[in-house]
Amino acid sequence: MHAKTLALLALGFLAIAQACAADQAMDEAFAHHPRQWITKPEFTSPLVDHLPASATVPSPRDVLGDDIGAPRVLHYYADILKYYRTLTDKSPRVKLIPTGKTEEGRETVLVLISSEANIRNADVNRHNLAKLADPRGISEQQAREIISQTKPMYVVLGGLHSSETGPPEMLMEVAYRLAVEDSPVIDGIRENVIVAINPATDPDGRDRYTDWYYRNKIEDTDDLTPVHNAPYWGKYIYHDNNRDINFTGMSARNLLGFYLDWHPPIMHDLHESHPFLYTFSGQAPQNSMLDPILYGEMPWFANFEVAQLTKYGLPGVWTHNFVDMWSPGYVAFMSSNHNGLVRMYETFGSGGATTMLRHVKPVPGATDNLHPNDESTREWYRPFPAYDVVEWSMRDNTNYMETALLTGLQQTSMFPQAILENFYKKSRDAVMAGQTRAPYAFIIPGGRSDMTRAAILINLLRLQGIEIGASTGTIKVKEGTYPAGSFVVKLDQPYGPLAKTLLSKQVFPDTKLKTYDDAAWSMGMMSHVEVVESADKTALDIPVAAVGSGDPQGTIDAPAAPAYAVLDYGSINLATLRNRLRGVSIQVAEQSFKSNNRTIPAGSFIVDGGAYKNLKDAVIPLGLTAVALPDKPSTHMHEAAAPRIAIFSTWGSTQNVGWVRYAFDRSETPYELIFKEQVRSGRLRAKYDLIIVPSQGRSAKDVVYDIPVYGKPLPYTKTARYKFLGDYGSSPDIRGGMGLAGLEELRKFVSDGGTLITLGESSAVPAEFGLTPDIEVSKPSAAFYAPGPVVTANILKPASPIFYGYTDQALSVRWASTALLFVPLRDKQNVLMEFPGGEKNVLSGFMNGADEIKDRPAIVLSAVDSGQVLMFATNPIYRWQNFGEFRMLYNALINYKNLRTFDQRVDSRLNDALAVAAD
Ligand SMILES: [Zn+2]
Repeated sequence: MHAKTLALLALGFLAIAQACAADQAMDEAFAHHPRQWITKPEFTSPLVDHLPASATVPSPRDVLGDDIGAPRVLHYYADILKYYRTLTDKSPRVKLIPTGKTEEGRETVLVLISSEANIRNADVNRHNLAKLADPRGISEQQAREIISQTKPMYVVLGGLHSSETGPPEMLMEVAYRLAVEDSPVIDGIRENVIVAINPATDPDGRDRYTDWYYRNKIEDTDDLTPVHNAPYWGKYIYHDNNRDINFTGMSARNLLGFYLDWHPPIMHDLHESHPFLYTFSGQAPQNSMLDPILYGEMPWFANFEVAQLTKYGLPGVWTHNFVDMWSPGYVAFMSSNHNGLVRMYETFGSGGATTMLRHVKPVPGATDNLHPNDESTREWYRPFPAYDVVEWSMRDNTNYMETALLTGLQQTSMFPQAILENFYKKSRDAVMAGQTRAPYAFIIPGGRSDMTRAAILINLLRLQGIEIGASTGTIKVKEGTYPAGSFVVKLDQPYGPLAKTLLSKQVFPDTKLKTYDDAAWSMGMMSHVEVVESADKTALDIPVAAVGSGDPQGTIDAPAAPAYAVLDYGSINLATLRNRLRGVSIQVAEQSFKSNNRTIPAGSFIVDGGAYKNLKDAVIPLGLTAVALPDKPSTHMHEAAAPRIAIFSTWGSTQNVGWVRYAFDRSETPYELIFKEQVRSGRLRAKYDLIIVPSQGRSAKDVVYDIPVYGKPLPYTKTARYKFLGDYGSSPDIRGGMGLAGLEELRKFVSDGGTLITLGESSAVPAEFGLTPDIEVSKPSAAFYAPGPVVTANILKPASPIFYGYTDQALSVRWASTALLFVPLRDKQNVLMEFPGGEKNVLSGFMNGADEIKDRPAIVLSAVDSGQVLMFATNPIYRWQNFGEFRMLYNALINYKNLRTFDQRVDSRLNDALAVAAD
């Protein structure tokens, strides 16, 4: 049907909607503004083309000065909170729940909106939802009664991604509308649903990006030469705040706390990118651990929205062909992971509130900021496509999102009982699955020499509400015998499917499919922690005691010995210990040795008895084991270094650098964050012993040249007006990269004896730009596809300090790079670890082309003049996930002066491993 015809139809609906709300006075200024601000008459709907006036409750314009969607207007987080606080003060239909603080100290809140009675009754409703979420204590009859007295809660998140600026604006208007409008749709929502709004899911990023928009982006008028995004949103992890599977971000963690307190059956995350509005219906590959009911609910909602918005005459509303239901690591998946329903939109954001010329049909040669897929085509899942080219405004964006969201809420209000029944049934099915089908439990064996890595897992699982017990006696199941104190995750619990999702191996269902993010995340493999999947039904009856914190207490022998050895059993906390004991001389044992009939593994720290008190204070909370030595050992030792570290970051790709910063901050590792400015200014060797280049950019060239130079300078500096810019680094112009001049400084740094460490994709830099002339790098074939599987890597130099704490020769590592390194045979001794490749070495997830990585280096150490370059083809700090690999990087720091000395020594590490196991 022609667009104009549809637009005329929409006008018909408009008349109906106006008639419905005829009794209520309308806000006349609003009726005037948004009509001016939309770029085509059809970009509106009967749900949003009006706004009621209220004598008592202020609209966004009353508090903030503008109607929502005004051109060139974005609101800072404090203003957004101010609006919600005012609304809470003035309307009995609104209630504000504080949930915590962000990294930068901003308050996080959820804003509940419903009828006055529902808001009054919110706590009772919360308890009811908790019973449905954990139906173990109630009968089906009781569940039915609870459902009849309960309202579903529908949580909406806006602004998780800070450059997606529309949702935090739009949600204020929705809040007002829900609080004041009298119309059949809104009355129904208010009566039957409790809406909970998360005003900006990354509050720190909201402020920083708003500054960036006003300073650098407000004059952006088309998407062919877009102004680059702000270098930072929140403190650490940028866009990956939606890949934060273990909830490192405070805002996500606060939201999870709210979730587990209120048990909302629906959580809906609002994003921006695709034209004009995509509504998520959960395409394949799907996580089959989740209840099949979920996969009926998702398209049920999406299809209603496509039909309704199309009926209103809005083109470009579609579903199906975008995000899949495989990875559980997206923020709003906390709902589907906990037997609720996840929802997601993408609307056509322009990175701000400036009206822009947008190209939906790709323009040849202009790929930046344009989706490579042509989303202007008619498809079965996109029956009324978006236009090829369009002028697009913030109000267009607002109208689409708001119409769709109100439609999703309308559907919830039409079927509140069905949604609650589904929620209850999914929760009950989850418990039943653990009672009736293997696996019945996961066991994390206790009594191992290092329990600190197991503790990371235990704590992360508990954070997500998963119940874990500690066995009170020896466990005997058909998989083996495990000591008292082993951790048991019984699967006959509501969050059993989530435990299965996180702990088991990922078996990709179809090699022809692709997935939007990682194909694998198996926590045991990622952390190098033994996780036993038990198919023995008696595991459900293992007597267990409640687990407080999973963190083990360390131990230390009595004082007054000449020296102490902190045993290296592979704990990441050994790195923290090194940092806590700065100023104390620590020696590292290069080989294992016997003392008092005990094996002291290679890598153990030897500390003088005089530092006993400091040592004890650090070892106990870190869960480490320190034993007394009768004498200073005579084994080979070297000093545990505390190098002066720089982490290099581009301005255009700070995200993966952010994960390394986060890990270093957690392990108390000091570093300076440096950018092109510091690199180009030179004298690097005088300032640093070690420079780390985390994985960043899509290629070596990206790392060197970074943001292309066109348009105006892009300052990222703090000023009186822009007080949220200039954090974590500062630049008068973030474009251009370090260039060859910077690269030459890095070469000089290495040549003068510095250590350069490159991670993941960045390891292409020394190879391609000739810092390590003998190492080649190549790309895999076009057919190669490896969305983050866990694969085997073989240690070739087990005596290398890089592998202190590792007792196996074959490790599970996360595949991290498309840069395949190649080292000629004559330099083969420089390869410390390599990928054996092949199907059988894909341990979890999926790799198409596993033979292409056969015998490729995973870690290479290359001497360059008096310095060295250590190249990881893996990413030893990948997000907050592959804890098992972290030690390889920390070992490189602590032992950087001694990375090449081990060659002369007897390669006794594998024998050590056997000796430790025999102790
Ligand atoms: Zn997004």
